[in-house]
Amino acid sequence: MILELTADQDAFKTRIEQFAREVVAPRAAAIDESGSFPADVMKAAAAQGLCGVTVPTAWGGLGRDYISYALAIEAIARASATVAVSLSVTNSLVAELLAHAGKAPQKEQWLRRLASGEAIGAFALSEADAGTDAANQQTKAVKTAGGYHITGRKVWVANADAAAVAIVFASTRPNLRGQGVTAFLVPMDAPGITRTALADSLGVRGLGCMDLALDVDVGESHVLGPVDQGFRLAMWALQGGRVAIAAQALGIGEAALAEAIRHAKGRQQFGQPIANYQAIQWMLADMATELDAARMLTLKAAAAKDRQEKCDLEASMAKLAASEAAHKAADKAMQILASAGYRRGSVVERLFRDVRATEIYQGTSEAQRMIISANVLAGA
Ligand SMILES: Cc1cc2nc3c(=O)[nH]c(=O)nc-3n(C[C@H](O)[C@H](O)[C@H](O)COP(=O)(O)OP(=O)(O)OC[C@H]3O[C@@H](n4cnc5c(N)ncnc54)[C@H](O)[C@@H]3O)c2cc1C
Repeated sequence: MILELTADQDAFKTRIEQFAREVVAPRAAAIDESGSFPADVMKAAAAQGLCGVTVPTAWGGLGRDYISYALAIEAIARASATVAVSLSVTNSLVAELLAHAGKAPQKEQWLRRLASGEAIGAFALSEADAGTDAANQQTKAVKTAGGYHITGRKVWVANADAAAVAIVFASTRPNLRGQGVTAFLVPMDAPGITRTALADSLGVRGLGCMDLALDVDVGESHVLGPVDQGFRLAMWALQGGRVAIAAQALGIGEAALAEAIRHAKGRQQFGQPIANYQAIQWMLADMATELDAARMLTLKAAAAKDRQEKCDLEASMAKLAASEAAHKAADKAMQILASAGYRRGSVVERLFRDVRATEIYQGTSEAQRMIISANVLAGA
């Protein structure tokens, strides 16, 4: 087993780290403060190819591997968790799913635009009563002469504020749960879509999360993948999405560790830097060890994605481990900075709020444990 990046992956990582440091990081506090979707930063990220990292070059993407993609999301998240998750939605949940399941005209219409950043994508699966139980879709798509009429309400749709297209999941065979859900490519300017801004959120502010009310007609050509197979497609997309959220969590955790080290070396108490105290050293040691262990799982899951294997187990393990390690790292960083971290507007205060969502979106930690235990029990 080779545990080294290739020269090409390493060079790409260095390039994106520089972009994150120079372009994304200076905007992070303002994105959090304003809660506005960072269209300017997304445009700059798109110019680096970050809206279509794994999308084939034939469709305008970078055509890179999943390991490179995970490294890029981690680097961006170290600078801004919001930009990282926004990129992960448009890459993993929209562009990759379209590349995987779309017909040529659908790709012609949307994939190039998504990969270039000209169009932002959204993924509308969750509903008021379909969160962890995502198969309980109440949004319905009823067959019409020319296509489908979709009615229902989606909640917490990230990127919705700026998105040009959303992949909307709707029940085509009510009562069949996941066996009767279809995916649709819905242009966000279609008549009959009402976007409602969400109330303020704790972290990843500026993600453009909105609720969608749908009363919309779409043609047959808007069906993504086979009819009634949409839930399977959503679960496929979430495998990659969870690798990206694991990488996002690592980036947040790394930023927390960096802040904690910086403060521990500079802050003097009892006449010496607090980094001299074993209580602080052990916290730093645990943070570094747990983040690195989670990184191994994340890269292992990304490598499984690159081999085009089913990787639900690896992706769930990576997301679970990385989000919990990053949460603990942000918590310990807060302890090490103490009042300097607790102050509104400090970097650690933002990281502490941002990290929490990584244990919730794209499946809660409990949902990841369900997937892992089902695999473990099936294999025993
Ligand atoms: C910032 C943010 C962005 C999001 N972006 C998107 C998006 O772009 N698109 C989208 O479709 N959705 C999005 N979501 C929604 C997200 O995917 C859901 O919030 C998540 O799946 C959990 O659903 P829920 O909030 O309804 O919690 P619930 O499902 O109500 O869960 C509540 C609690 O019960 C637990 N639980 C539920 N069932 C079980 C069980 N069987 N066993 C044990 N415990 C259980 C959960 O783990 C959790 O702790 C986003 C959410 C957030 C916070």
